[in-house]
Amino acid sequence: MSTHLTTVAGVPVDTRHFIGGERVASTETFTDVSPIDGSVLAEVSRGTAMEAAAAVAAAKAAFPAWAATPRAERARLLHAIADGVERRLEELSLVETTDNGALLRSHRRGVMPRVAHNFRFFANWLLELDHEDFTTRGHTNHVTWDPAGPCVLITPWNAPLMLATWKVAPALAAGDTVVLKPAEWSPLTASLLADIAAEAGLPAGVLNVVQGYGSEVGDPLTAHPDVRRISFTGSVPTARHIAASAAANLTPLSLELGGKSPLLVFADADLDLAAGLAVEQYDNAGQVCLAATRILVEAPVAEEFTRRFTEKAAALRQGDPREETTDIGPTIHPRQLEKIDGFVRRALEAGARAVIGGHRGEGQYYVPTLLTDVRQDSEIVQEEVFGPVLTLQTFEDEDEAVRLANDTRFGLAATVATGDAERAARVTARLVAGTVWVNCFFVRDLKAPFGGSRHSGVGREGGTWSFDFYCDVKNTVTAPKGFKDHG
Ligand code: NAD
Repeated sequence: MSTHLTTVAGVPVDTRHFIGGERVASTETFTDVSPIDGSVLAEVSRGTAMEAAAAVAAAKAAFPAWAATPRAERARLLHAIADGVERRLEELSLVETTDNGALLRSHRRGVMPRVAHNFRFFANWLLELDHEDFTTRGHTNHVTWDPAGPCVLITPWNAPLMLATWKVAPALAAGDTVVLKPAEWSPLTASLLADIAAEAGLPAGVLNVVQGYGSEVGDPLTAHPDVRRISFTGSVPTARHIAASAAANLTPLSLELGGKSPLLVFADADLDLAAGLAVEQYDNAGQVCLAATRILVEAPVAEEFTRRFTEKAAALRQGDPREETTDIGPTIHPRQLEKIDGFVRRALEAGARAVIGGHRGEGQYYVPTLLTDVRQDSEIVQEEVFGPVLTLQTFEDEDEAVRLANDTRFGLAATVATGDAERAARVTARLVAGTVWVNCFFVRDLKAPFGGSRHSGVGREGGTWSFDFYCDVKNTVTAPKGFKDHG
């Protein structure tokens, strides 16, 4: 067996990069560890500027033929990749859970089917992508979405394959070629995706995967002058860095970043529903960009809401994410655990009170936490924790609710629980967020625009917005036959 193959949960995974249709090893590796038990899963090829350059060169070389491939054929290949994902759904689920600690049942039933759907959706959308011609003084305007070129896609660890394929699928559909750089804490399913794409018959160089640290391989990728689009999902500090390196080449950017989203609970809300929505924020151990981590409750119902919330939270089972009955798994990495713990300790020192939790669990687990008595300008209310930590504040009226909700530097999402449709309309209109949910959470259609306002991001992806980003949109204006007068 090749030394570059590792077996994770019984599934063989190649630990080398995938460049120009070939597996390529670096001389150095980094160690990939499972958050479930700290066991070493793989020694993964650790990319440098050399592999970054090779991957961009492969994407550049493959671009003209892929861009010229008829839409129907591109769509057929995307569906073939989706077929491969569906065939290997169990393997992908097992590897993802072992690598990033998110629930196996969620991967099996929700995440991996959606990964396949990402490819099918953009394949189908591509076939419908059109804009009606229109005329200007007899001249015809014809809008087309031309493939842009090689794209660099950089993704985080909290939902590795899901977030990667939100980018890979529309970029490939658009006729672009791709270099995907997965996060170093959970790189394994990206390697499996490379296998699946090759098996599906995707031409060499159309999808390349390079692994490694952001500073070593991510940096040279984003600074590369041949890259035509950069799509990044991750943290604000990294986004600043990437935006600065993209600036030199004026490379268009899409940034999907962090959040500190509010859940507004009005006194007229179904409190059981609202408490359920609040408890849902512990999903994936709170390591979800969209998580509504700031619970804002109308004062008269705060006590009753808290009672129902704690009752529901007490029923959550924390443990091994491979078990069917587990609701909350481990945090991804000891460094993440340390970060979460630091936030909570500082909040408690500053006078916050833990309604539940407030401390670590065993190993790499953090106990689901709700903090109250927190100040609006405090770190715990203003900064993204990215762990199972929620805060609870009260408000007196709609104005105060909106003021508190909008008072952070983020604007990714917001959730409103109310029984009054007119109030919902008034409040949602005033919230600064890329997505607002009313009496629900996490419903996302790929047709819908997705992204954040303020420091939560730049641009929108999804449906047509994805094609607008990944393509050079062109308008061709044709004069009517015999037209001479341009005066
Ligand atoms: P991160 O910014 O540390 O890393 C994300 C990716 O960027 C990784 O692949 C990393 O290797 C790479 N990277 C790091 N430095 C780089 C550099 N200098 N150049 C190029 N690439 C570099 O983020 P993370 O800790 O992996 O992810 C958590 C963050 O992601 C949270 O802030 C979360 O809110 C955010 N997130 C946002 C969304 C969204 O859709 N808005 C979704 C999921 C996660």
